[in-house]
Amino acid sequence: MTGIEFYTNGHIVSEADSMRQKLGVLAKQHSATSAIIITDAGISELGYVDIAQQSLQEAGVNVVVFDNVVPDPPIEIVESAIELARDNQCDLIIGLGGGSSIDTAKIVALYPNDFQSVNDILDKDISGFKKTTTICHTDHCWYGRRVYLCLRDYRKKMAVKKAIYTPKILPDVAILDATLTLKLPRHITAATALDAMVHCIEAYTSRTKKNPISDALALKGLQMLWNNFEKVLNKGNDIDARADMLLGSTLAGIAFVNASVAAVHGLSYPLSINFHIPHGHANALVMCGVFTFNLSEAAPLYAELARAVMPTQTAGMTDLDAATSFISQLKMFLENSGLKYRLSELDITKNDIPALAGIVINTYARLIATNPKDMTLEEVTAIYEEIA
Ligand SMILES: [Zn+2]
Repeated sequence: MTGIEFYTNGHIVSEADSMRQKLGVLAKQHSATSAIIITDAGISELGYVDIAQQSLQEAGVNVVVFDNVVPDPPIEIVESAIELARDNQCDLIIGLGGGSSIDTAKIVALYPNDFQSVNDILDKDISGFKKTTTICHTDHCWYGRRVYLCLRDYRKKMAVKKAIYTPKILPDVAILDATLTLKLPRHITAATALDAMVHCIEAYTSRTKKNPISDALALKGLQMLWNNFEKVLNKGNDIDARADMLLGSTLAGIAFVNASVAAVHGLSYPLSINFHIPHGHANALVMCGVFTFNLSEAAPLYAELARAVMPTQTAGMTDLDAATSFISQLKMFLENSGLKYRLSELDITKNDIPALAGIVINTYARLIATNPKDMTLEEVTAIYEEIA
């Protein structure tokens, strides 16, 4: 077996109501005096910021709130958050996400270092940087060692993501509080859950970085997500199912940041950045097309996953049949979720496809490299056209 280096953060708190009961305690454990909560307006309106703020204030920690994060945040928004943290000399950064808020929080945590603009640290080695203590809560997405920012190239009319990457960027504490997911709208629950399932599947089938630790996490994560998906969609206040989904998403996340995601993410990024399709929804749109394309290389691995989550239905099946049933069930999850599943319903036309496919090949080649099967421009185009 080839060598493995495996990263994750050191402290996970997975417990209902832990944001209210434990955030202030955790802040004091890290000797915090001044915190910034970074989130978006939607999370703020749900009252979750109030819960975090109260817990911190009861522990004697000053709090400022930045709730202007938007999906795939442009640099200007991140820099406004940095300014607020700098003005208040914050020694604790709280990300309440949504993935974009977590990514913003991780960059804000670098504010004490000597850089003028976020542009100065994009795609640079920042492994020598200091980091402010960071605590994150999210429905998923705290676990990445890479954060992405959206950069627009107006000459080309299409945008790309640029990365900041370092193992150090992981939060010091990840809080998984299922009570904070109870009010999430059904479409967000569906999209984030399908995204997390894709994380498990792409990690488990990663051509270059699959390893026994990520395999174990991906397999268990997928079981937790799969078995609870319909429960949380049909009964949004099922706290036990929500808690299992949150932990399953976390296992999925730790798996994929070490094993990598692949072509589903490669094809979804241009949809999110250029057409503002939320990340999870964009992955859900392209997943079945990519997995079907991959069957000739990855059927045995998809079959292993199928037998773990659909043991009765796949009993006695060949690998190809089990893998095909697995993809059909994912398609049913998507179609029954209420999410739109055709590009035309999302104002993306056939005329947009050549540019989208070009971005995949030119900008996200690293995600094709981890896919079980190589893809040409024509094959990427065909997958988009299938869902046009
Ligand atoms: Zn994802």
